[in-house]
Amino acid sequence: MPNPQASARKPLSAPQKALHKLGLERDIDLALHLPLRFEDQTRLHRLADVREGQTVQLEAVVTHSEIRLQPRRQLLVTLDDGSGSCTLRFFSFYPSHQRALAVGARVRVRGEIRGGFLGRSIMHPAFEAAGGALPSALTPVYPSSAQLPQAYLRKAVAAALARSDLSETLPPPVLERLQRLQHGRCSLREALQQLHQPAPDAAGAAYEDRGSPAWQRLKAEELLAQQLSQLCAKRERDARRAPLLCAVPDGLQQQLLGALPFALTAAQRRVGQEIARDLARPLPMHRLLQGDVGAGKTVVAALAAAQAIDAGWQCALMAPTEILAEQHFAKLVGWLEPLLAPRGQCVAWLTGSQKKKQRNDMLALIASGAAALVVGTHAVIQQQVRFARLGLAVIDEQHRFGVAQRLALRNKTAAAAPAQQAQQAQEPHVLMMSATPIPRTLAMSYYADLDVSTLDELPPGRTPVLTKLLAAPRRAALIERVRAQLAQGQQVYWVCPLIEESEALDLSNASSTHAELSAALPGVTVGLLHSRLAPTEKKAVMAQFVAGQMGLLVSTTVIEVGVDVPNATLMVIEHAERFGLSQLHQLRGRVGRGAAASVCVLLYGAPEGERLSELARARLKAMVETGDGFEIARRDLELRGPGEFLGARQSGAPLLRFADLASDAHLLDWARWAATELLEKDPAAAQKHLQRWLGSKSDYLKA
Ligand code: ADP
Ligand code: MG
Repeated sequence: MPNPQASARKPLSAPQKALHKLGLERDIDLALHLPLRFEDQTRLHRLADVREGQTVQLEAVVTHSEIRLQPRRQLLVTLDDGSGSCTLRFFSFYPSHQRALAVGARVRVRGEIRGGFLGRSIMHPAFEAAGGALPSALTPVYPSSAQLPQAYLRKAVAAALARSDLSETLPPPVLERLQRLQHGRCSLREALQQLHQPAPDAAGAAYEDRGSPAWQRLKAEELLAQQLSQLCAKRERDARRAPLLCAVPDGLQQQLLGALPFALTAAQRRVGQEIARDLARPLPMHRLLQGDVGAGKTVVAALAAAQAIDAGWQCALMAPTEILAEQHFAKLVGWLEPLLAPRGQCVAWLTGSQKKKQRNDMLALIASGAAALVVGTHAVIQQQVRFARLGLAVIDEQHRFGVAQRLALRNKTAAAAPAQQAQQAQEPHVLMMSATPIPRTLAMSYYADLDVSTLDELPPGRTPVLTKLLAAPRRAALIERVRAQLAQGQQVYWVCPLIEESEALDLSNASSTHAELSAALPGVTVGLLHSRLAPTEKKAVMAQFVAGQMGLLVSTTVIEVGVDVPNATLMVIEHAERFGLSQLHQLRGRVGRGAAASVCVLLYGAPEGERLSELARARLKAMVETGDGFEIARRDLELRGPGEFLGARQSGAPLLRFADLASDAHLLDWARWAATELLEKDPAAAQKHLQRWLGSKSDYLKA
C-alpha cells in the first residue's frame, strides 16, 4: 500500500505521481478526498432481470471470444450466466484481456447494459475472476484521473483513513458549542468514516444530506481552518515591518491636490485618510479599496503614491490589461510628471509588449530609484524587475489577478532587503482596488485578513445609466437609435461577445459587426478594437475615440475595465446573455461618465429554437433592476458561488471544498469565534488543525 510519507525518497510509481498531481500527498489529503458517488457491488444481477441503461454486476462464463477488425479493431467476448447472454466490447485491449476472458473462464463484470443491433452489450466493463467475496459496503467512486485507477485510489484512501491521525483538535468548550449546531455528536473520524464508507442501507441518502452531523462536522472543521489561517496571517503581518511613509507638509501630495481639476468627494477624502494613516505606520498595509466603476479610485491611488514618494520611496501600480495600464499611465503622467520633473524623478512604464531597449531603459530607471512611480501590467512583478526602494504597491482590479501574482508583488521588496541589512526585512504596503465589491460573507471568510475602505459616493454630475433589454430581432431599430445618438455629437460603444472562448471566432464576429455598422452608418468613423491588434494599434484606436474623432467603437471585451470617455453615452452589448454579471456591470460602467444621460442596451437572443437559460435571464434581470455594484456583486455570488467569484481557481488558493457560505453561515460564525478561542487558549491545537487542513497550501491564504 502506498504510504507517500514513507516512500518519499524512492522514485514515485505512475499512480503515486498521479496522486501527487491531484494534490493527494499526505494521508490526511487522501482521507479528505471524498467520493463522488457510490456503486452498489454488494450483490449480483441475473441477465434475465437486467434492463438497458442499468449499471449491473454479473458473474458468467465466457462462451465465445474473438477479435474483429471491422468496422474498428475490437475484442468481442460473449458471456452466459445461465439466465441469458450478453457481449462485452473492448476497443482498447491487451493480450492479458484475452487471456483473462478466454472461453470457459468464469468472470465477474461490472458496467452499464446497452441494447443495440447485436443484442445486449457492455462497453469496456470492469472485470475480474468470479467467485471472490462480495463487499459488504457500498463502493465509493472517487474523483480521479486517467493515470489513477479507481481500485488503487480506493485502497490508498482506505489505508490512509485508517492510518491518519484524526485525533480531536477542538477543546471541550469549542466542541460543545459546535455540537449544539451540529444536531448531534460526530467526531472527525466518525464523520469521514461515514462519508467514505456509508452503510449500504443508508445508501446515497446519508451522503447526500449535507445537513447531517457528519457533513456539518467536516464543514465546520474546514471553516475553522480557513479562519485560523486568516487570523494567523493577520498576526504574522502585524509582526512584519514596512517603511514609514509619512505625509510631508507642502509635499508632492499637497501639490497634486492643488493641481487636480476637481475637488475630492467626501468619500475620497475619507478613504484617502484611512490609507494615509496606514502608510504612516511601520506595519505593512493590506487594504482593499472598493468602489463602483467610476467612483474615482485612481486619484486616491495617486495620492497614496504621492505620499510614498514624498517619504522617499517608490510606488508600483499594476493593472490587469495593457489598455488599462496605459490609461492609468496617461492619467498619472498627466497629474504627476509635471510635479516630479523638477525633482529629477519620472514615471516608468512596463509591459510585456515593450521593445527590449525601452524596457532596459525603464529597468535602469527603476533600479536607480529615478522612477518614483512604475506603472504596468504583470510585467511589474517579473523577476528581472529590481526596485531601489519599493514602498507601496497598488493593484488595480485586484480580483483579476491570481493570488500567486499578489504574493510575488509582496516579495518584491526582498530585492530591497539587503540594503536594510541588520534591520528586520521590510515589505511594501499593499493597496488593492476593485470595482467588484466583496459581499459580506466572502469578506468575512476569504478576506478576514484584509482592511476594507469603501468609496460609496460617485463624483458629482453623474447621471445614472438607464439599462434596456432588447431582443436580437430589433437590431435594425437599434442601429437607427445609434445613428441619432451620433448625430447629436455623442459617442457609442458596441461590444461583441467572446464566442466560446475562441479568439479567432471572436475576432471574425467583431470584424463583421464592424463592417456591417460601417456600411449602415455612412459618414461615421467606426473603429474596431480587439485583442489581436498590436499595442500601438490599440493605442491609436483608443486615442481617436478618446479625442472624439471616432463616433462608434466596435470592440471585443478588451474595453472591459477602466476606459474613461465621458462623451460616450450609449453602450450596446451584443449577446449580453453570454456575459457574466460582473462583466456586464463593468462594461456598463464605461458610460454615464459625463453629465448627459446614458443608456446601456443589452441585446439578447437565444440560439435558434431555444430559450435563454435561467441563469442568463437572472443576470439580465439583475442588470435592469439595479445599477448598484454591491447589489450586483451580491447577486453574482448567489448565481455563481464563491469559487469563480474569487477568480482563484487556477491560482491554487484553497477554496472551500465542503462548506457553502450561503447555507453554512451559522458554521462560519462559530468558526470565527472558535479560531480566536483556539489561538488564544490552545495554540498547539490550532497549529495541528491548520496543518491537518491546509498543510503546505496555507501560504496562499496570506496573499
Ligand atoms: P474608477 O473608480 O472606476 O477607477 P476612475 O478613477 O477612472 O474611476 O475615475 C472616473 C472618472 O472620474 C475619471 O475621469 C476621474 O478623473 C474622475 N473623477 C475622479 N474623482 C472625481 C471627483 N472628485 N470629481 C470629479 N471627477 C472625478
Ligand atoms: Mg479604475
